Amino acid sequence: MLEFNNVSFSYHKNCPVVSDLSLTVNPGEYIAVVGRNGSGKTTLTRLIMSLVKPVKGTILFDGETTKKYAPADMARHIGYVFQNPSRQMFHDTAIEEVAFGPLQIGISKDDAIKQAKEALAKVGLNGYETAYPSGLSKGQKQRLAVASALSMAPRLLILDEPTSGQDQQDKALFLTLLDHLHQKGLAIILITHDMNILAEKVARTIVMCDGTKVYDGSTANLFQFHDVEKWGLKKPTAVTISHKLSPYGVSFSPTVDGLIAEFKANERGAVGV
Ligand code: ADP
Repeated sequence: MLEFNNVSFSYHKNCPVVSDLSLTVNPGEYIAVVGRNGSGKTTLTRLIMSLVKPVKGTILFDGETTKKYAPADMARHIGYVFQNPSRQMFHDTAIEEVAFGPLQIGISKDDAIKQAKEALAKVGLNGYETAYPSGLSKGQKQRLAVASALSMAPRLLILDEPTSGQDQQDKALFLTLLDHLHQKGLAIILITHDMNILAEKVARTIVMCDGTKVYDGSTANLFQFHDVEKWGLKKPTAVTISHKLSPYGVSFSPTVDGLIAEFKANERGAVGV
């Protein structure tokens, strides 16, 4: 669906921010992009959205170069949820906010409202049609921003740190929503600093460091076989415990549930059950 071929980009001449980056995103994939601040994660998403263009290399969407596409063209296929969703909201009611995208591409008012209602229902905000967006909680605002993206029926959703600042309950609700959208076939690129979310939820991880990709593969292998701290990443809690239990014969697991299962299996083995 999306392909970067040796892409480089700089905001200022001779000061590369992304260097020789190649990657592929397949339909329906759930991918995390991680790395320390300034490693190029947001610039990568800006390149995907055609908000900035490669200085070298090519970006293909469905096999076509995105060079000729404006951000509005990409927004028909790719939803983008900012870290601070308030920056994306300009309307007085949630329904107007969500209907804005469909109206912009010429869909009739009735159909746009219908699509917006459906999108609000998908994110659990049915009943909030007339709510004032700025009056919503952080978690609700994030879900409203996702509804705005969904109203355009995207194939890929990009989210930049969507759970930062949300309380535990809102965070869990939001992650369940992403799981659900992924199960329905939507491809997701999630930028996050939360390594527990990474380990628990996302099968493939891309690690960025100084504008280049230093790891692209299974999240479990990332934590099992790599010293992630050198890339500015923290180990998830389950990974730290798992490594400590390894001398006692407990197999590695990057998730809490997986670790408990390994621990129980080890215990059963020890007593010969
Ligand atoms: P991340 O999202 O990983 O924190 P960014 O893509 O935002 O990284 O930034 C990568 C580098 O590009 C940083 O050194 C940052 O200072 C620089 N940068 C980001 N946006 C701009 C901009 N609009 N103009 C100039 N430099 C920028």
